Amino acid sequence: MRIVRYQVNNAPPRYGWLSEGLIGEIKGDIFGEYRREEATIPLDDAHLLAPACPSKIVCVGRNYAAHAREHNAEVPKVPILFMKPPSAIINPGDPILLPPQSQQVEHEGELVVVIGKRARHLTPEGAKDYILGYTIGNDVTARDLQRLDNQWTRAKGFDTFCPFGPWIDTDFDPSDAVITCRVNGQLRQMASTRDMIFNVGSLLAFISSIMTLEPGDLIFTGTPAGVGPLHEGDVVEVEIEGLGKLSNPVKAA
Ligand code: ZN
Repeated sequence: MRIVRYQVNNAPPRYGWLSEGLIGEIKGDIFGEYRREEATIPLDDAHLLAPACPSKIVCVGRNYAAHAREHNAEVPKVPILFMKPPSAIINPGDPILLPPQSQQVEHEGELVVVIGKRARHLTPEGAKDYILGYTIGNDVTARDLQRLDNQWTRAKGFDTFCPFGPWIDTDFDPSDAVITCRVNGQLRQMASTRDMIFNVGSLLAFISSIMTLEPGDLIFTGTPAGVGPLHEGDVVEVEIEGLGKLSNPVKAA
């Protein structure tokens, strides 16, 4: 099932499910008991919103060896974690705003895990029972500021630096799917999720040994090689085979 969050006209946001270009409302709790209404709303009549409201966004650095190498960084022995604030979230199609403090804002196309149940001390094998599904993310990064700072809160945390969506796919298999990132149609990044250093199960085990994960929390699983600059007027598209495509324009703040 593909889960969306959407608005029709100015009605309050609702969760829905997608069926052949139509949305049906989901009544109840997407993390618990719910009922699916018949899908009758054309996708074009709805405004798609970021499909989850996380309490936190945990990100993994250098989880593809080729990306670590392009920054002359070592391949990590344990996952490198950092966080993005929920205030950085934007909807699919909303603009990424280039802040005046940075001269080098870059895209990072990533597979994103959406947590389905409160999780602590997971095992790699048991982690999948705590996943609601998967979505597509762009871990937008002010690379020049990242290089200046010992930690990355500033470089990763600007408003609009966390586009994700357009939906959550509950049936997606993350073991071997191609991720691509294009800017103005030009290919920048391409790799398979099979090339991750730490797979989804081991990442969730590691992260949940540190902090409790809540329903709706996001895990950005790292970006492949090929990250590069975004400029005013660009359109950046992150696509994951079998999952969909996330597209955002780029504007000056
Ligand atoms: Zn990243």
